[in-house]
Amino acid sequence: MTRDPDSAVSEQAPRTAAPGVGAKADPGADAPDRAPRRSGKVTSKAAEDAAAKMVAKATARSAAKAATRTAARTASKATAESAAKAPAKTAKAAAKRTAKTAAKRTAKTAATKPAAKAAAKTAAKSAPAKAGAAAAKPESRTALVRRARRINRELAEAYPYAHPELDFENPFQLLIATVLSAQTTDLRVNQTTPALFAKYPTPEAMAAADPEELEQLLRPTGFFRAKAKSCLGLSAAIRDRFGGEVPNRLEDLVTLPGVGRKTANVVLGNAFGVPGITVDTHFGRLARRFGWTTSEDAVKIEQEVGSLFPESEWTMLSHRLIFHGRRVCHSRKPACGACPIAPLCPSYGEGETDPAKAAKLLKYELSGGAGQRLKPPPGFPGKPAPALGAE
Ligand code: SF4
Repeated sequence: MTRDPDSAVSEQAPRTAAPGVGAKADPGADAPDRAPRRSGKVTSKAAEDAAAKMVAKATARSAAKAATRTAARTASKATAESAAKAPAKTAKAAAKRTAKTAAKRTAKTAATKPAAKAAAKTAAKSAPAKAGAAAAKPESRTALVRRARRINRELAEAYPYAHPELDFENPFQLLIATVLSAQTTDLRVNQTTPALFAKYPTPEAMAAADPEELEQLLRPTGFFRAKAKSCLGLSAAIRDRFGGEVPNRLEDLVTLPGVGRKTANVVLGNAFGVPGITVDTHFGRLARRFGWTTSEDAVKIEQEVGSLFPESEWTMLSHRLIFHGRRVCHSRKPACGACPIAPLCPSYGEGETDPAKAAKLLKYELSGGAGQRLKPPPGFPGKPAPALGAE
């Protein structure tokens, strides 16, 4: 399997999380026990529908926006003469009404008639390009905040099932899984941890593990000697210094061997409900493409992005950006033509803009495939990931 460097959990990101919501383990961790089983066919259909919906929505929305702009220009011209005589307010209202009607008509047509596909395609190309041109002008702070929050809302609509992509059932499992996710994929970690946690379910058990046996269990994740050392060290520290419970404060978590600020943030945000922004490679790349920051530094990115949103949004915003980065807005070839937030993105055009070609670049559940979790949460439209060796 190809290593996904994007999934690597670096330890650079700091925690800016504030105390908040009460402790919660991942509600989806034991999903298969509670959720009704889907047949492969149904699951695959749901995934196809999700992808098709995303592409259609992106196209229709772009078409509507382009139409609004065009209609506004036409209407303004047509009413120019009377506007000169009539009060300014009346002319403006007339132009707005005409524009709205034209936009509605075009959007409806684009969404329903195959013949409008070409127009939609053109609009999909031109509208975001204009958004990009507009973004080239200095954007006021208010406009930036509004656009950022709108992107967050659109992503929430596109990925209502966004979640951490590591399987875990308690804070200890999430801590170990996050440590193991460095330099490998979440999928590989999820395929490795079932046997690991079956053998060493608690910090006490893992601290007493035979180092060589532990290394062999961790071998599929790469860097297994260093990771085994971290697992032994942090388990012993949790046993000896924290009464066998994973601490829920950043300052305590970062004292554990192999645990940096980023790992601590992941655990705090997803196992203890403390809002936090996780700046991994996807998050940083998308934040720069959105124009939320120009920085490459995780600390700065976290501060700058955090200032655009209420704290209560930080954890889910992180999941949404990471989901979008893994599925649509890829590092090398973003699928701009199938992107639901294209009209809001100043980087539209960095990737494939042709909707049909872009749709082929979508990944995971959006391409009808499996997600990264062996136990995805309820509502996830993709298939569960295969167990180790079953790929
Ligand atoms: S896929 Fe393209 S349009 Fe969408 S967020 Fe990425 S760069 Fe922007």
